[in-house]
Order: sequence, then C-alpha cells, then structure tokens
Amino acid sequence: MHPHLLLLTTPSSYRLPAFLAAAERIGAYTTIAEDTPAALARPRPGRLPIDFTDQSAALRAIRDLHTVQPLTAIIPVDDSGVELAAIACTELGLPFNRPEAAAAARDKHLMRQLFARAGVPSPTFRLCTTADDLTTVAQSVSFPCVVKPLRLNGSRGVMRADNPDQFYAAVRRLAALLDRIEGPQPHQFLVEEFIPGFEVALEGLINRGQVQVLALFDKPDPLDGPFFEETIYVTPSRLPTEIQAAICAVTAAAAQAVGLEQGPLHAELRINERGPWMIELANRSIGGLCSRTLRFGIDASLEELILRQAIGLPIESLSRASQAGGVMMIPIPQAGILRGVTGIEAAQAIPGIEAVEITAPLHYPLTPLPEGDSYLGFIFAHGPDPTTVEAALRTAHAQLQFTIVPSIELTEARM
Ligand code: ADP
Repeated sequence: MHPHLLLLTTPSSYRLPAFLAAAERIGAYTTIAEDTPAALARPRPGRLPIDFTDQSAALRAIRDLHTVQPLTAIIPVDDSGVELAAIACTELGLPFNRPEAAAAARDKHLMRQLFARAGVPSPTFRLCTTADDLTTVAQSVSFPCVVKPLRLNGSRGVMRADNPDQFYAAVRRLAALLDRIEGPQPHQFLVEEFIPGFEVALEGLINRGQVQVLALFDKPDPLDGPFFEETIYVTPSRLPTEIQAAICAVTAAAAQAVGLEQGPLHAELRINERGPWMIELANRSIGGLCSRTLRFGIDASLEELILRQAIGLPIESLSRASQAGGVMMIPIPQAGILRGVTGIEAAQAIPGIEAVEITAPLHYPLTPLPEGDSYLGFIFAHGPDPTTVEAALRTAHAQLQFTIVPSIELTEARM
C-alpha cells in the first residue's frame, strides 16, 4: 500500500513542487488541499479545495477524504496550513503537533509569551492595537523598536522605528496593510525591543520534541531596517563553533517552549555580545525556493526528509552534502511593473552559480516590502567554502538588470 499524504498549501506556494517531487521519490500518493474560498472551489482529481479559514468545513472535507482514502499524514507545506494540520491530525489520530503548539508557532504574541515564560532570550514586547492612543504608547516605548503584525510572514509589515514620528508612520502603514488583508477594523500588533546583531537561520527537524539541526545559514547582509528583506543565505555558518552550539541550544529551548513535537523547524536568531536571541520560529521548511541549496545523504531533498519523518520511514542521513551552498532571494527594489530582465546568462556563467530563476512574472505589478510578499527570483550557488559562495552570489546578482516601470494608478474620473 502506498502512503497517502494530504499536502496543505496555498495557490501561490513556492514550496509545493519540491514536496510533490519528494512524494514521488518515496512512492507516496498525494492529495493537494489548496486554500481556496468556497465559491471558487472546483473538484479536480487529486485536489481537495478547502477554505482554511472555515475550519469546520475544512475538517469535514478532510474527514470525508480520510474515510474513502485513509491518510497516512497531513503535511502543512506553508505556514498557512500549520494549525489546520495539527487540528486535523488530532481529530484523525495521526501523530503531529498539539493544536496549541501549532497556534503558538503561528502567532508572534503567543510565541513571545511562551519564550518569556521559559526564559528563552528574546526581545521584550508589548501587545497594542491600531485603535490605541499612539502618543501614549510611544511615551512608554524604548527606541529603536520594531513594529510587527501577529500573523504575517516573510517580514511583511515588520518595520523599525527610531523615534515617535517613525513609530506613528510605521503603525499607520501596518494598519493600512492589515486593512487590505483583513478588512478595515482595529488590528493587534506587537512593539518589540530592536535586537541589534548578526542574523542566522536554522533549519531543523523536530523528532519527539528534540531538534535535529540540518543546516545553519549565515545572513551576511546587515538587517538593520527600516524593513527587513531577506537576501543572501550561506551555509555552513562561519560563526565560531561555541556560538553555533549556543544558537542550537537556544533554538532547542525555544521549540520546547512552544511545545513542538514533530516536523520541520525554521528559526531566525540574532547574535550579539550578549549571545543568541530568538527572533522567531516556524513549523515549516525554509522559505521560497531556498531548500534547493540543501541535499542530504545520497541526494535527498529537505522535503524528502520531512515526508519520511511524517510517514515514519527511515531517514538514511541528516548530514548535509559536504560543499558550501547559498541562495540569494532577489529583493524587489521598487514598486512598479516588471517589463524585462537581462543578464541572466552572464549571471549563470559566474563560476559556482548553479541556477538563476526569475519567479516574478513579466508585466505584473511588483510590491516591495513591507507590503509585498514575493521576490524577483532566486540565485543558487555551491562552492568549496561559504566565502566563495557568497562572492559568487553577489557577482551574479550584479549581472542582472531589471526594468521596472512605474505603474499608473487608475482613479475615477470626476465630471
Ligand atoms: P516574519 O515571520 O514575517 O519573517 P519576523 O518576526 O521573523 O517576521 O521578523 C522578520 C525580520 O525582521 C527578522 O528576520 C529580523 O531581521 C527582523 N526583526 C524582527 N523582529 C526584530 C527585533 N525585535 N529586533 C531586531 N530585528 C527584528
């Protein structure tokens, strides 16, 4: 009998193709549950269109599927499916995370509270709403601070403010973004202490509550704000061994504080003279197409490891292939319409560059951070050491030219 996996995903997921390829490699049969508003849902073979926000209808659909074709595991491919997967697994008796742990991994305020209670080093925080009197709030905030939404990801809506005026502007901008996503209403947000330092990302797999570290990535570009766009990730880390050990220990404590038992772990930490600070963890794999930089044992992908663990199949090796690897998420430099890209061949010809993939479609609007949620594309590199990989990524990026023209806003004509 082939294992049957339910993959919870979104229509714009970067990650789904890698999970489908991994499922095929291990001989698993998949059903794709795509987050779709009920009005747009059309039955298609191998697809289960469900609205993640309508939890009872979504659970009913998953239960019905399980009755006809029993599920071996439910995999949240993206952040959006983490809570639904945990609830559905609990209902169907499949092993995964407790719904409360999944909820905390998705909600930055719950997470901060659990970190604080468990003594995990993380920024001090305060829960506010956009309806609060901001002048009063600003009087008790220490600057610099970070303003952020509770439930978005990819650094969307995350802004640094160095003084009250920047704070008011950041909250206004966040409120406008959340109005567009959730409808006009007061929105909760966090104000956090800004933690200076060097940033890393840790990719892991949690097994019975224990974090197994798969890769530690340095983020060599400074992330000091006002917005926090991801660019270069390089592994292995060049930090001293004892600092790497401290990062792993803080991450393990953070995963335990949240109560995660199983599945992928992606954590962001900052390191300064006072040690590592947990910025955030998520119960999902690394973002975008970045997992392509990782290969384990005999050419297994990160997604294969995640699926094998979920099904209970043996994992041959958690060791990364020995070469250094890196990826650059190409940030969107300005808003507008992408009209053209040149220099791809020149970028691909740089020694060490494996691939340049432009994912932004031509002739569509581009939205940079803090409102946007996508990249222009990705550059992948391998090399003998992290320094060579980083240099190759920078040189390749310098070959690319993006033509972005202003978009013309249409406004209603007044007669
Ligand atoms: P998201 O889940 O949207 O990625 P995060 O909370 O991880 O949101 O924040 C995104 C980025 O913003 C982090 O990777 C970090 O660079 C920066 N950041 C967030 N909070 C802080 C903070 N308190 N101090 C310093 N930098 C921060």
